[in-house]
Amino acid sequence: MKITGFEVTALNIPEDDPLANMPEEAGRMRPVVILRLRTDNGLEGIGVTFYGGKMTGSLKVAVEELSALTVGEDPLRIEHIVGKLRAGTGDSCGPGGIFTLALSAIDVALWDIKGKFLEQPLWKLLGGHRDRVPTYASGALRRGLTDDQAQQAAQTLLDKGFREMKTQMALPGNPSPEDELRRIRVIRDVIGPDIKLMCDINQRWRPEQAIDIGSRAEDVGLFWLEDVTTADDYAGLARVTAALNTPIAGGEYLWGIAPFRQMIEARSVDIVMVDIVRAGGVTQWMKIAGMAEAFNLPIVSHVMPEILVHVVAACPNGLTVEYMPWMLCLYEETPAVENGEMALPDKPGLGLKFDEAAISSYKA
Ligand SMILES: [Mg+2]
Repeated sequence: MKITGFEVTALNIPEDDPLANMPEEAGRMRPVVILRLRTDNGLEGIGVTFYGGKMTGSLKVAVEELSALTVGEDPLRIEHIVGKLRAGTGDSCGPGGIFTLALSAIDVALWDIKGKFLEQPLWKLLGGHRDRVPTYASGALRRGLTDDQAQQAAQTLLDKGFREMKTQMALPGNPSPEDELRRIRVIRDVIGPDIKLMCDINQRWRPEQAIDIGSRAEDVGLFWLEDVTTADDYAGLARVTAALNTPIAGGEYLWGIAPFRQMIEARSVDIVMVDIVRAGGVTQWMKIAGMAEAFNLPIVSHVMPEILVHVVAACPNGLTVEYMPWMLCLYEETPAVENGEMALPDKPGLGLKFDEAAISSYKA
């Protein structure tokens, strides 16, 4: 089997909130790039990448330039192709930035082809540890909501059957620690003690602030506190992790695999979170999962649940899937959430098909 061609398309998709219907700004769009990688036996693999922002045009070109290097290659030799792509940029255009964003789309498409060729779903190819995984609602309980809206959104998520959900602290303005605590408590009041509640800080606190507010929040029983300070301040993170009983999660902002070695060796986090696009695709995500397992740490995904459900289910240390519904509109069908869990698809590869009508309407 050989790769024969590719098609790369830039899209603007709605940045709405399908979970609780409280978008940050009505009508705002998110730019993404999709890839179709084609082979001489008629199989097609799909990949998606983003984080290009105003440089999404450049990201599209980067995916095209790297995809051109895959033509003629055997798509089952994924590490060989990844090596060729790195060499194609003189090993000098990554890991941080547009090279890795583009590589990820290609790597995901190659795994999709491999699954389709072997007629197996991706999660089984990667290990197949279990066929259902917990998932948590993400993106709906934003820091910008009022307390009333946050309570309403939390109730909507409960009504949809979610057993785990994530909110945010580091509220807008200049909130006192008491304001931060008030918000997290009003959400806990609605959902009760048995629902797992995560809280993302998105790097907005100093380590000492994280220890102060995190200590006051211990009785809320958070499942984790995420990205409590600057993502590459491994020593600062380790200080917070050592000081709090609440588990600390982090890693989504790291690029490639090497920074995870530094982060994990420094005991900076209790839960390793990996963004597939910044990691460089499925191949690199699984390497980081193995690294975390060797250090006795659980691993969790960042965004794109329709793809990441495969890798979390594949690993013995996979904890839960972030159900961030940003990209669901790209596909005809995605794995459903039932009683707070996602069931793994039995279709080959990713088990996803682009919704062609939707995609033509999103073309940038
Ligand atoms: Mg996060």
